[in-house]
Amino acid sequence: MNTPIFGNSALLSSLENMIASGRTANSVLFFGVKGSGRKTIARYYAKALLCYNPLPDGKPCNSCKSCRNFDDNVHPDFILPPKSGKLGGFSVDTAKLVCSDAIISPNNGDRKVYFFPDCHNMDVRTQNTLLKIIEEPPAFTFFIFTSLSKNDFLPTIISRCACFGVCECSENLCRDALTAKNLPQNDIDSAVSCFHGNIGRCLDYIFNPDIRLRVDLTKALTNSIINHDEYALAVNLFKLGKERYDVKDALSLLDSLLRDAAVILSSQQNSRSIPLIGCFPSGSASLASFLSARQIICIHLAVNKCWAAIEANSNISLTLSALSSDIAAICG
Ligand SMILES: [Zn+2]
Repeated sequence: MNTPIFGNSALLSSLENMIASGRTANSVLFFGVKGSGRKTIARYYAKALLCYNPLPDGKPCNSCKSCRNFDDNVHPDFILPPKSGKLGGFSVDTAKLVCSDAIISPNNGDRKVYFFPDCHNMDVRTQNTLLKIIEEPPAFTFFIFTSLSKNDFLPTIISRCACFGVCECSENLCRDALTAKNLPQNDIDSAVSCFHGNIGRCLDYIFNPDIRLRVDLTKALTNSIINHDEYALAVNLFKLGKERYDVKDALSLLDSLLRDAAVILSSQQNSRSIPLIGCFPSGSASLASFLSARQIICIHLAVNKCWAAIEANSNISLTLSALSSDIAAICG
C-alpha cells in the first residue's frame, strides 16, 4: 500500500511528527464523514507505528519485514477485532477478549495495534469494557478507532484519545487521486460532479452500481419535490428499498441537496460563493428558485426526523410514507 495519500497533508504531518518524536498516543481516534479517508489514514498511522525502521521524518520505511507484512495484510500485530450483530458493531465479549489479549506481548516487534473501524454503532457497554484497558494500556499496545464523530464515544473514552478530524480534499486533489488509479476520465467527471472532494465516495460511485442508483433516485426525489408531484415523490421514496443503511444514505444525499439549496439562496442575498456539497447542483438550484428558505428548512427538518426514526428502528415504509406527506404539506 505505497500509493500516496491525497489530501489531509497537515494531519499526515502531525502523525509523522508523532512517530519521529516518539510521542505517540496509545489511543487515537480519526473522525470524519464517510469516504473522507479515515481508514486509509488510520492504516497509514498503524503501519508507521509498527515499522521497524521508520524514516527520520516519521514515514514508514516500506521495506522492513513489518511494512511488507502490513502491505500483505498478514501482520500478526495489526489486529482487527471481529464485528458482530445486526448493526455490525463490536460486542462486549469482543471487548473483553481484546482486554485480555492486549496485555500479551507483541508477536514480532515491540508494538501491537488494535484497529476498530467504523465505531459509530459502538455500544456503551462495549466502550465501558474497553475503557479499562484504554485507561492503563501496556506501553506496547495501541488502539486506533475511526468514526463519523467524536460524539459517537463516551467522554471518558475521548479524554483518553488523541482525536484527529479527517477532511474531504479539494476537487482537484480528488481528480488527481482518481487519475492515479487509471480510471476513465468520464467516470472521474461524473463521480466528482456528485461527490466533489470525497475520494472514497467517488470510488464507490464508480465501482458500485447501487450507489449510482441511489444518486439517480435522489435526483428523481428532488425533481418530484420541484414538480410538486406528490405521487412521484411517494413512488420514489418507496423505491429507496428496505435496507436501513441504503435509505439513510439516500436521505443524507437528499439533505445535502437541501443544504445546497439553502446555500444558493443565502449566496444570492450575500453575494458570497460557498462550495456546494450535494450530488445534483442543478437540482439544488431549482429547489432554491421554487422554494422559500422556510420551506427548505422545514423539508430538511422532516428529512432529519425520518432519518432519526429509521436509525431508531422504526418501520421503514411507514416512516417514508410520513415523510412523503410532510413534504407534500410543506410544499402545498
Ligand atoms: Zn518499515
